Amino acid sequence: MEEIKLKPCPICGKQPKIKRDYNYEMSGFGAWCTIKCGCLFKTHLKIEEGKATWERALHYASLRWNATVDLTNSYKTEIKTKSQKE
Ligand SMILES: [Zn+2]
Repeated sequence: MEEIKLKPCPICGKQPKIKRDYNYEMSGFGAWCTIKCGCLFKTHLKIEEGKATWERALHYASLRWNATVDLTNSYKTEIKTKSQKE
């Protein structure tokens, strides 16, 4: 599976961090991937994905992260557009 380039956090613009849960994998239930915003003190956006293998967990978590970033960005644009009309 090809690697997906993660988009920056829609709120702070920082690149997200990927966390692989090795303890979860050791337990044999599959793989657990967490992608969250790279801020030190506050997390703006967090995605968690559990799949049978790490590659799949990372792949689907990345897809969801980018989709959520797009959605948040389009929402912000919508608010901006509305306020400009007033
Ligand atoms: Zn952020």
